[in-house]
Amino acid sequence: MRTQKITILGSTGSIGVSTLDVISRHRQRYEVFALCAHSQADRLFEQCLTFRPRYAVIRDAALASQLQHKLQKASCTTKVLYGQEALIQMAEHPDVDSVMMAIVGAAGLPSALAAARAGKKIMLANKESLVMAGALFIQEVKNHGAVLLPIDSEHNAIFQSLPMGYDGQAQKNGIHKILLTASGGPFRKTPIAALEKVTPDEACAHPKWAMGRKISVDSATMMNKGLEVIEARWLFNVLPEQIEVVIHPESIVHSMVQYIDGSVIAEMGNPDMRTPIAHALAYPERIASGVEPLDLIKAATLSFEAPDHERFLCLALAYRALDEGGSSPATLNAANEVAVHAFLDQKIAFTAIPRLITAVMDRTAIKPITTVQDIIAADQAARILADKLIEQQLIR
Ligand code: NAD
Ligand code: MG
Repeated sequence: MRTQKITILGSTGSIGVSTLDVISRHRQRYEVFALCAHSQADRLFEQCLTFRPRYAVIRDAALASQLQHKLQKASCTTKVLYGQEALIQMAEHPDVDSVMMAIVGAAGLPSALAAARAGKKIMLANKESLVMAGALFIQEVKNHGAVLLPIDSEHNAIFQSLPMGYDGQAQKNGIHKILLTASGGPFRKTPIAALEKVTPDEACAHPKWAMGRKISVDSATMMNKGLEVIEARWLFNVLPEQIEVVIHPESIVHSMVQYIDGSVIAEMGNPDMRTPIAHALAYPERIASGVEPLDLIKAATLSFEAPDHERFLCLALAYRALDEGGSSPATLNAANEVAVHAFLDQKIAFTAIPRLITAVMDRTAIKPITTVQDIIAADQAARILADKLIEQQLIR
């Protein structure tokens, strides 16, 4: 078998590190073509020494020249590039077979679209790009014969629970509903009145998953699930009312598909992102991921409950954005990114996150989306407005 050449965008993050862990178990099967990170130069240096990629990409020229120098001294021939253009080049390079898209936030959109246009196999962890670009992203994938494999554990579970080669025709395939599971995050049982005072570290202490800080806060507000509802809508071409969120605190069932004959197909396993990563890397084959086999006797209980919409206001905001369509999901996503960073920087309270997003959505006219520029314009406008509302202390 020919080795698969892989670009990893966001290699120093939680998903990037898990991806390299799986690859390290199958070095004869996968070759790391490019490793791309933002600012963690030391970690990127270590990764380059271990995986010897042809290219490494970092944020700016100064970091790139330092890293290049260090690599040369260590007799590593990796060529260091920098900036957004280099990320795009690594995503669309003709020698690359597949791209792990694990940058966090809207910053991932240009390179995700580039991978789609270059017809690559895209392993998509960056849900924000699908939330922002939805229909347009899927159209690019189709137009250029790219293969889109979800890394988000829920969507990977749904992908595995759908008929092999699912063609996006839910009705023809007898699909009644997607049951999207959610752990409920660290504040599932916290008194609502106490949420005003929770700290960034408390919000990032997820009970089941170790992840980057942005997605951890998203999980605590359940905006993560809201973004995933939008992601599922585009990945599987289902209607918003066909996506039901179910709280499942044990995080063993990663999501389900309910069929019209009453069957419910689920994918289960220990909560470890190396499972969906290994699935996507080897698809349609299977490879070992390093994940402990699930012990159902030890797990003993699997419980399910309805989400509390008073506690998790962000969930309804995501359905609202889907319902409004056009630029609204991009507005939602950008306002959320600003809100999460402001909360992590202790500029606003945890409970101000949904307030800020609501205020931005209420003050923004919904525009039709026909090009990427329309999406970027909506993203920028929402960021400017959200920053202004924080600065003027209209939302705290
Ligand atoms: P993280 O914060 O741990 O890592 C983010 C990575 O992106 C880092 O390598 C960082 O260097 C890079 N990056 C950040 N900003 C960048 C920019 N402007 N340009 C280029 N690179 C940039 O995040 P994570 O938890 O690994 O999540 C990554 C993505 O995967 C997110 O979209 C998240 O929603 C999604 N995801 C993560 C998990 C998880 O378990 N961590 C699960 C499902 C989905
Ligand atoms: Mg998820």
